[in-house]
Amino acid sequence: MPAPFILPPLPYADDALAPVISANTMGFHYGKHHKTYVDNLNKLSDGTEFAALPLVDVIKKAAGQPDKAGIFNNAAQIWNHTFFWESLSPKGGGKPTGKIAALIDRDLGGYDKFKADFANAAVTQFGSGWAWLVAENGKLSLRKTGNAETPISGSAAPLLTIDVWEHAYYLDYQNRRADFVAAVIDKLLNWERANERLGA
Ligand code: MN
Repeated sequence: MPAPFILPPLPYADDALAPVISANTMGFHYGKHHKTYVDNLNKLSDGTEFAALPLVDVIKKAAGQPDKAGIFNNAAQIWNHTFFWESLSPKGGGKPTGKIAALIDRDLGGYDKFKADFANAAVTQFGSGWAWLVAENGKLSLRKTGNAETPISGSAAPLLTIDVWEHAYYLDYQNRRADFVAAVIDKLLNWERANERLGA
């Protein structure tokens, strides 16, 4: 049976983000949850037109089709998780520099307001989902999405994301989502990658 979709390697060791995200959480989050989305998509797409498509095309094609919900959910979760790992860095966090810093000043009221608003988006996403910093039509904005929903179904280009499904933080923070989000923003956000994504 062909298995065209793959689990990309983590861009760092599984303990590299500790103590903000422990190796234990990473073992389950990357090793079990992310891997399961890949395994599920390979099963669901086997023998269908989706098996021959790039992952992003699977997401765009299945989006909004109720009878393709399983394909969409697993494909979008593969993409969202790979993007999330790349949104974090052991040397990340704090104030950005470069083009992203200038755009945050211009579009989002400066770093302190960005930080408060991004944390608020992540904490107030009801139930499972994601908080996003995106660029659309040359302007930055913040989004939150539920479950597997992803800005790439539309025209926005994601720059950074935080996973706020309970599996992202429950082993390390239990119910304290706000503490997890604050630690990720302060210690892990990969601003260098956000600048690369802007083409800066
Ligand atoms: Mn997750």
